[in-house]
Amino acid sequence: MRLATFKTDPGAAPELGVVVAGDRIAPLSRGGASLARDMIDLIARWPALKDEARRRAEAGEGARPLASVTLLAPIPRPGKIMAIGLNYADHIAESNAKPPEHQTWFSKATTAATGPFAPVEIPRASAAVDYEAELVVVIGPGGRNLSGAAARAAVFGFCCGNDVSVRDWQMRTGQWVIGKSFDTHAPFGPWITTADEVPDPHALGIRCFVNGEKRQDSNTRHLVFDVWAEIEHLSQAMTLEPGDLIFTGTPAGVGASMRPPKFLKAGDVVRVEIDGLGAIENCCEAQG
Ligand code: MN
Repeated sequence: MRLATFKTDPGAAPELGVVVAGDRIAPLSRGGASLARDMIDLIARWPALKDEARRRAEAGEGARPLASVTLLAPIPRPGKIMAIGLNYADHIAESNAKPPEHQTWFSKATTAATGPFAPVEIPRASAAVDYEAELVVVIGPGGRNLSGAAARAAVFGFCCGNDVSVRDWQMRTGQWVIGKSFDTHAPFGPWITTADEVPDPHALGIRCFVNGEKRQDSNTRHLVFDVWAEIEHLSQAMTLEPGDLIFTGTPAGVGASMRPPKFLKAGDVVRVEIDGLGAIENCCEAQG
């Protein structure tokens, strides 16, 4: 299933929906009563709710054209956003970095989460804003010390994401968190494709375009540490919870590695697409 959070008009409350055939979205509510409070609640109670969600998707009651709604971040405020750096060999090479012996993790502030088609801010504080196309994992039941089948079972679904990065802030200290955490710098979506519809998350073409120009073009088969290894590693340290996000790393082609570097500016449109998961497209806007 393809699960979304959407609004029917700017003043309306966010709703849960399921994207159905013919580019339509069916609400997961009836008579004003939603199947779940929000996406995190839906994910947490998914085993009990999935059959009803599927029934509503198939009935298509109240479905409307996708183009008539605004898709929001599928999870407006995730519990945490963890991201791995240096996880594609070609990106490690272009960054003049050595292949890491250990997985290199940082977090993105949860306030950076934004919608799949929402503006991305070019902040007053920097002119070195960059894109990173990434496969995003959405945690389902989660847990601690997850390996093997348990790591696979911990995943709820997958999205496209852009790990927007403020390079000067990222690189001027040894700690990347602030440079990765500016407001609006974690767009993801356009919806969550549930894991049962992604037979192999390590065989997905991933691309990034800036104003229609292809900048990144790779495949998730090139991940250095795959999704299961990432979950195994992270969950040794922290409890993964329903709706937590994992940004799984970016391939070569980021703006900082171009000669000369090509950073994002107001008016640029960044598109991230992944086979089978749809696409997100964000326009850059100067901070007001
Ligand atoms: Mn990244």
